[in-house]
Amino acid sequence: MIGKIMKGIAGFYYVGVAESGVYECKAKGIFRKDKIKPLVGDDVEIEVLNEEEKLGNIVKILPRRSELIRPAVANIDQALVIFAAREPKPNLSLLDRFLVIMEKQDVPVIICFNKQDLCDEEEVGRLKEIYEACGYPVVLASAKQGEGIEEIKSLLRGKTTTVAGPSGVGKSSLTNLLQNEVQMETGEISKKLGRGRHTTRHSQIIQIEEDTWLYDTPGFTSFYVEEIEKEELRFYFREFFKYEGTCRFQGCTHTHEPGCMVKNALEEGKISKERYENYLELYGELKEKRRY
Ligand code: GDP
Ligand code: ZN
Repeated sequence: MIGKIMKGIAGFYYVGVAESGVYECKAKGIFRKDKIKPLVGDDVEIEVLNEEEKLGNIVKILPRRSELIRPAVANIDQALVIFAAREPKPNLSLLDRFLVIMEKQDVPVIICFNKQDLCDEEEVGRLKEIYEACGYPVVLASAKQGEGIEEIKSLLRGKTTTVAGPSGVGKSSLTNLLQNEVQMETGEISKKLGRGRHTTRHSQIIQIEEDTWLYDTPGFTSFYVEEIEKEELRFYFREFFKYEGTCRFQGCTHTHEPGCMVKNALEEGKISKERYENYLELYGELKEKRRY
């Protein structure tokens, strides 16, 4: 039988099989044979050991469309990163770190600022402007007032998306709203997986629509970006990219060099001060190889 790993806890994998339900599986054979660790999101072949108790064994991992190291998930198309516009105040340095890591892994990102009901239009408008100018789709939402839900849904439709963001920003609230129209079958799966209103501690998958899946991953509070070289950092700030090669010095790091077109664009207001400052901060950390 072919199914999808919906959740993995302590060596057990919960494999959802259409019209059959969820099987609790081990993956011993896979470790021995292929030496790869199954990931949430993997499409797998299972052998059923006990139909009544829904126990099985994963015998094969089907080829992955994509693989993300952090969070460790397979077969995603994009990421939806959620921050609150207020309460907690958005930590843009953290957001930019997340974006850098996704750029490095070539994962498209949708940014959502939730709790827009808590601030005025100008404040959220500025956030939207900063990130749209870099080329990211930005949705302003309010789980409380049900705003932005349809827009998020349309961006998720037909895709598999991993959700990320710090805790307390409204990830669960938004996910619950997105889940409203889930078919009965999925509701059953969700029940079996024990998805309550508690905080997510493990990655797991939620079906939103027939071809639309969400990976609910644990919230994050910090990021290590130490595997990135300071010289490559500039490639992960999208809006810098069009100036690549136009600065006076070849391989300009856009930090201190004269004749830097990125700094020029910054002065002209074409690159946001916030993003540039976060670039400098991150560059400095990579230079020192300090860990955060
Ligand atoms: P998570 O930790 O990211 O999953 O965040 P939750 O969904 O648990 O929400 C954290 C808190 O923020 C809860 O008290 C929610 O009621 C509240 N909250 C979530 N979305 C909104 C919103 O759009 N506006 C306001 N004012 N509060 C919200
Ligand atoms: Zn430069």
